[in-house]
Amino acid sequence: MTLSLTVSRSQLAKMQTHLKKGGNREIGGWLVAEQTAPGKFDLVGLTVDLEAGTRDRFDSLPEPHSQQMDRILLENSGRAGRVDYLGEWHSHPTFPPIPSEIDVAAMTDMVENSGPSFAALVIVRLIANASIQATITTFQRGQLPEAGQLIIADEVSEAEFGEGWQLPEH
Ligand SMILES: [Zn+2]
Repeated sequence: MTLSLTVSRSQLAKMQTHLKKGGNREIGGWLVAEQTAPGKFDLVGLTVDLEAGTRDRFDSLPEPHSQQMDRILLENSGRAGRVDYLGEWHSHPTFPPIPSEIDVAAMTDMVENSGPSFAALVIVRLIANASIQATITTFQRGQLPEAGQLIIADEVSEAEFGEGWQLPEH
């Protein structure tokens, strides 16, 4: 099943702010999402570490992310669906927002060995400080990585595809 992740315009705006602050550094963190149906998720928050700027987020100190995630979980405790860690996100400031070999190896290692058996990886790139290109790839234990679908939604209206997003080729 292809995973789809819906991102509201306000979440998108927050991410854009982080990316502007990050500049040419690769930044990232964790995705927190509400599951609304099988394979369907709404992004409810994301953690970010602007200081570390590390490539290897799997070995970076988890504390700032844990604290941010606790806050996001608390803020969203009233939601009907299950709210939980969905995966990782990071920026590719200077190259296309598709998983690198290192990204694929790290995510595969996480789902096969140490972490949850399923996780998504969102990679974003800010273009000319204005629009965001992004892809989502899902990793499941025992399976090959699969391209997912990102949907930009206005807060209340029907989900729609936003301009400025580049969806992964299938
Ligand atoms: Zn990467």
